[in-house]
Amino acid sequence: TKFSDLNLHPKVLKAIDDAGYETPTPIQAEAIPPALEGRDVLGIAQTGTGKTASFTLPMITLLARGRARARMPRSLVLCPTRELAAQVAENFDTYAKHVKLTKALLIGGVSFKEQDAAIDRGVDVLIATPGRLLDHFERGKLILSDVKVMVVDEADRMLDMGFIPDIERIFGMTNPLTRQTLFFSATMAPEIERITNTFLSAPARIEV
Ligand code: AMP
Repeated sequence: TKFSDLNLHPKVLKAIDDAGYETPTPIQAEAIPPALEGRDVLGIAQTGTGKTASFTLPMITLLARGRARARMPRSLVLCPTRELAAQVAENFDTYAKHVKLTKALLIGGVSFKEQDAAIDRGVDVLIATPGRLLDHFERGKLILSDVKVMVVDEADRMLDMGFIPDIERIFGMTNPLTRQTLFFSATMAPEIERITNTFLSAPARIEV
């Protein structure tokens, strides 16, 4: 498979070329086509497999057209830690550099002020840790009913850190009829299996 066979946005292909990537990794080759078709994806993959690009590249392609309204992000990436969230945000900057998309990072340990301002301006891609996202929600600042693409990254670490109830709450704040879900975990513990059975709809299951 070549990147040019994957139906990605031409501006995303250009960014991939700029990054010097030659061929998609196995998780990218398998996850990108169903994601671009609007299907849910369950990716069982470790870090280092290229899993971040396997959700960011189709997200940018899907979101390239359209614009977010104030307080209503069009997509959401949930990460277990601040460090991972920051890494995902960097990936978005790399792959979306030729596309006009707004992005915000909602992580703990920094003031609400800038995050509030970003949410108010409208966010195409919201990257967050569960605790800080729920803080914003409880302050009445955030509406998730317009989320078209939701990503859960490193779900097994979310489980280890006790975030599964938070994840369930956040799923409950989105609209299941208009939400597409891309869900990644290195392992499939019974609790993770239960979550995916509850919130994913006929996912393409990819194991690398
Ligand atoms: P990840 O598994 O998402 O943490 O990615 C691991 C590393 O692989 C990152 O540094 C990416 O920049 C890099 N990478 C992702 N996809 C490709 C690709 N198709 N070709 C070369 N490098 C890649």
